[in-house]
Amino acid sequence: MLLFTGKLGYQTRSFEEAAHKLDVQLVYVTDRCGRLEDPWGDHAIPVHFEAPEAAAYKVLEAFRGQDVSAILALGDRPVVAAAYASRGLGLTGNHPAAVEACRNKLRMREIFRDAGLRVPWFRKVPLHPTPEPAFLGISYPCVLKPLSLFASQGVVRANHREEFRAAAERIGRLLDSAEIRATHEPNLDQVIVEGYIPGREVAVEGLLTCGELRVLAIFDKPDPLEGPYFEETIYVTPSRLSPSQQLAIENCARDSARALGLTHGPVHAEFRINEEGVWPIEVAPRPIGGLCSRALRFSPNAQDEPIGLEELLLRHALELPGADSPREDAASGVMMIPVPNSGILEKVTGEEAARATEGITELLITARLYDYIAAWPEGSSYLGFLFARGKDPHEVERALRTAHQKLAFTITPRMPVEHPATRQMTN
Ligand code: ADP
Repeated sequence: MLLFTGKLGYQTRSFEEAAHKLDVQLVYVTDRCGRLEDPWGDHAIPVHFEAPEAAAYKVLEAFRGQDVSAILALGDRPVVAAAYASRGLGLTGNHPAAVEACRNKLRMREIFRDAGLRVPWFRKVPLHPTPEPAFLGISYPCVLKPLSLFASQGVVRANHREEFRAAAERIGRLLDSAEIRATHEPNLDQVIVEGYIPGREVAVEGLLTCGELRVLAIFDKPDPLEGPYFEETIYVTPSRLSPSQQLAIENCARDSARALGLTHGPVHAEFRINEEGVWPIEVAPRPIGGLCSRALRFSPNAQDEPIGLEELLLRHALELPGADSPREDAASGVMMIPVPNSGILEKVTGEEAARATEGITELLITARLYDYIAAWPEGSSYLGFLFARGKDPHEVERALRTAHQKLAFTITPRMPVEHPATRQMTN
């Protein structure tokens, strides 16, 4: 079984554990440094995800004549290479073109519009020179988004011309930064601008089998998420929306996946719902990111130990029994701990008290002490993750909020560095 992943971390460890349990050999395909000879001693295959066809070919070469049973991809960057490799190895998987469409927010909107799904007005806007909204025929509020970043990085709401100009300049600076340039993502000189969709937001975790979507969970996002930036906070399942609203969301998830041409494997999608109906925001052909998967457990029956999402996905990919296990009965949730301001993380307090909060099952601080952490819209990683379980979603949400209040993060803004040349000039 090949696992395409940008990062080796908590989620890959969960896959390793599940693979060990199922007696499956797991091989990583990653984009970490390929110059060193197997630096981590795990026989991973180094590739460049920004060249997906070449990456896939390298994998085909490496496994010529060997038996590969299935391929899974974690994260947004490895999915396209994984789709090409699945195709090359004759495995069941999404068509690479369908996966490529999911990596471009403009293409995805065009596909949803052409399929008759609800879409706001949208247009592609070059960032240089700073666009003048008066000439673009846009209306407010609107949202500016980089075409192929993820985790809401660089996503900004604008309510009037001045905010639009400031957002465009800010996103332009972000996309020109060395960190983002190093990703070699295409289209770093433009954004999609689209109408702001009011309403409640949900995330849907799903699993496609030969074109049939099974919804594993609908997560409510109980915080308002009205901008100007859109970092995630709380996810809670089961959803508290009415059965008819949940049905409408499931139908929209099905229609969106079908419109994109996704047919097989995990999907993670976001939707907004308001009085007009359900609006697809985005569909990604991969499971929920990293640690958040721990909020999902599945029980084949009441007697057996629940299994995690990773084991469920392995069972599904390898066509082993148990892949159809339903989610456990308990309510469950996760808080991606927001970053209040950019700076150096100096201190974290209250961890023990947060962990001791009733209903909290786990707290992980993933940001490193004394490292710089960026708040949104420049940021893309959280301070950590809080998990809770309870008898109902209210209880879970309350536990997450209570525990979060007990945590305190000291983040000191980075001092602007004065360039020696400037100092001489001003002297
Ligand atoms: P990313 O792939 O970076 O997560 P998304 O397109 O999913 O980008 O947008 C991130 C978040 O921004 C969404 O989850 C949603 O909260 C908000 N958002 C994006 N587009 C809109 C929109 N048109 N109207 C309202 N909110 C939006």
